[in-house]
Amino acid sequence: MFFKDVVGQEEIKNRLRNSVKEQRVSHAQLFSENEGYGALALAIAYAAYINCPNRTEEDACGVCPSCVKFKKYMHPDLYFVYPTVKAEDKRISKDYFKDWLALLEESDCYCNLADWVEKLNTNNKQTMIYVEEADHILKTMNYKSYESEYKIVIIWLVEKMQHQAAPKLLKILEEPPEKTLFLLITQSQEEILSTIKSRTQGFRLPPIDMESLTADIKSNFGDLPNDKIARIVNLSEGSRSKAYKLIEYDEEEKDYFNMFVKWMRICYLADFQKAITLSEDFSKMGREQQKDFFSYALQLLHFFVQFHSQGASSVKTEEEELSFIEKFSSYIHLQNVAIYAEAFEEAIFHLERNANSTILFTDISAKIMAWIHKEKRGK
Ligand SMILES: [Zn+2]
Repeated sequence: MFFKDVVGQEEIKNRLRNSVKEQRVSHAQLFSENEGYGALALAIAYAAYINCPNRTEEDACGVCPSCVKFKKYMHPDLYFVYPTVKAEDKRISKDYFKDWLALLEESDCYCNLADWVEKLNTNNKQTMIYVEEADHILKTMNYKSYESEYKIVIIWLVEKMQHQAAPKLLKILEEPPEKTLFLLITQSQEEILSTIKSRTQGFRLPPIDMESLTADIKSNFGDLPNDKIARIVNLSEGSRSKAYKLIEYDEEEKDYFNMFVKWMRICYLADFQKAITLSEDFSKMGREQQKDFFSYALQLLHFFVQFHSQGASSVKTEEEELSFIEKFSSYIHLQNVAIYAEAFEEAIFHLERNANSTILFTDISAKIMAWIHKEKRGK
């Protein structure tokens, strides 16, 4: 992670570069952000910049031995501290380093506590920066740096620090070991002790500007249409992680749409054998996805209602969906949409209570076949 990999945030990058140029790097800095603005990415890029012997005005060189190690997030003078859970043989950050590396790789350093908790698979145990962690920092910081001028400690989500650990951290910040930098990150500034705030230099990250976020999405998802990117950027409020989650969700929706169309076609042909095969596919999806599928189906019904009551132009959805709604509108209409809605809502209700998903899906398929058959006969 170098400055060039951090999306937007040019003003803060400049301030950080200048601090190095003017040799006034503060030994303790606090980056506060909302999820997805890029504080962690920025802190790592800053650390790489400080320790690169061949840095330019703009960025670290990216190729020297120090940069190569920073690229892999594995530099002997770079320490990460983050919330952990207490397990039998694990308690502090270094015990979870492998999971942490995986999180950084997968998220490009744009992540939040929920992503981390999911990775840790904690079984609802509390995630915290425990007092043992502060002891460990104290001990480690007494060694000299291995390779670079500075040892750098990045503390991610410092608001999750256990009460008893705070005085120890404060003591370190007050009497910092020589040539050691502390870069603290918070996604919840109001939870940070004022004593920590007063001992650190603060940076408040703004949302990522729309232009940079758009360019970043384009470079990673080249095949997304421009209007879709614009919609996602608008909804994501300057948060890269939010934008990426929206894209992921959109992809899933596309799959749900294709499945729904396939399902209706099978029901239209009253092909019971194919309905059974599809219900087996359905049963292989995760429970959450199964529920999402029916939520999506409910959303489609809503579009059917709009179509019939206000016309095609009132349906704000993708062209593909709209053309399906048009074609299928003589089978789902204002007089029978309620029975579909009821069936889908009931499906969600039963899935939440661990119903057998194959039986459930086959059962609804049979109902829909009957409803379509009735419409056909009425013509
Ligand atoms: Zn370098």
